[in-house]
Amino acid sequence: MKIILFDIDGTLVNAGGAGARALNHAVEAMTGHPEACQSFQLQGATDKANFENAFRAGAGRKPSKKELAELTRRYVARLPAEVLASVKARKYMKVKGVEKFLGKLSGRRNVMVGLGTGNLKEGAFIKLEPSGLLKHFAFGGYGCDSHHRSLVLEKAVERASKIAGTEIKKGEVYVIGDTHRDVEAAKEAGYHSGAVLDGFGDEREIMRSNPELIARNFSDMSPWFIWLGLEKDPKGVRRGTYICPDSPIEHAHYGRTGADLKDIDDRMKQLRNAKRKVTGR
Ligand SMILES: [Mg+2]
Repeated sequence: MKIILFDIDGTLVNAGGAGARALNHAVEAMTGHPEACQSFQLQGATDKANFENAFRAGAGRKPSKKELAELTRRYVARLPAEVLASVKARKYMKVKGVEKFLGKLSGRRNVMVGLGTGNLKEGAFIKLEPSGLLKHFAFGGYGCDSHHRSLVLEKAVERASKIAGTEIKKGEVYVIGDTHRDVEAAKEAGYHSGAVLDGFGDEREIMRSNPELIARNFSDMSPWFIWLGLEKDPKGVRRGTYICPDSPIEHAHYGRTGADLKDIDDRMKQLRNAKRKVTGR
């Protein structure tokens, strides 16, 4: 069984700032502050954390439990209108290739596709509605499950396990996101991690977080399928020779460095020959 968890914002869709606008609207209604979301980094955090930060930016203090509940209610009530506004302004977009990729994954046996997102469950569904992608997701972990993204992912896996009626090993879980926070959460939970660069993440921070696979988007599906272990690498990487043998990681390593161990061996031989010429031994 393979469990593949997708982040939403920047990984599946770009909702054209609908979430930030809805949150700004909710904070303004409660505190009078119009642009609360401009003062902190929304991307890659859970909604819960973002709501607290936004309220703090507006009111200058932490929200009470009651205030947080009201902020959440106002956000969810406003979000459909903001998503619709993005669609109308043609600012709502699917990440390139994602529809086809999900279609192919959904047709596979022993593959379960779910959400692993910082969005509240309701917010997740509202944001995905215009994309037509919702049909691919039978379960998920959401921002309402926890502040911590790694716990959100674990919750998704727990739900997948219930649906599948079988235990799921950590090595069977693949997390796809668009920020270093997605990658870090996946690693914290002990899952595989892949990242797209076409989302909201900072490219250098994504590189630094060192996911197993980095791709622009899903327009070329083959690196993704190889990483997932669903396709063989046509370049024929030698199996069982990497640090983590016989796993998708070696493919990801190959994809990122372009270097098979054979290439490295060959270059070492060239170097030794060159050294012999210089030193005479
Ligand atoms: Mg994202």
